[in-house]
Amino acid sequence: MSDDCIFCKMVSGEIKPDIVHETDNVLAFRDLNPQAPTHVLLIPRQHIATLDELQEADQDLIGEIVVAATEVARKEGIAERGYRLIANHRADGGQTVFHIHFHLLGGRVMNWPPG
Ligand code: 5GP
Ligand code: ZN
Repeated sequence: MSDDCIFCKMVSGEIKPDIVHETDNVLAFRDLNPQAPTHVLLIPRQHIATLDELQEADQDLIGEIVVAATEVARKEGIAERGYRLIANHRADGGQTVFHIHFHLLGGRVMNWPPG
């Protein structure tokens, strides 16, 4: 837990997001500023600031996040039509919250390449 991290405050319950799915290690909640009809963020409960900090021991955790994303996608009804699952890393990637997270975006056609 990092004291000044907004996503850690969601894990601790100090801030209450709109949670759509949880596991022992993962929390999934709706983005405050949605960029698509479905826009869910999936985070590890553990504070990891950037993808660069991941260790070999975190492989199962990342697998758990990705599997959780597929479950949320099914619950949201976007699995058949398709969706995008992305993680932004540092400045060039567009990361603004430094607690790793995956964006699950769906319910509309996504552009490629991204802007
Ligand atoms: P990033 O730019 O780091 O990849 O994504 C951070 C995401 O967190 C953004 O899409 C932003 O809208 C979302 N976000 C930032 N603060 C909050 C918050 O307090 N609550 C929720 N639900 N989402 C947030
Ligand atoms: Zn954190």
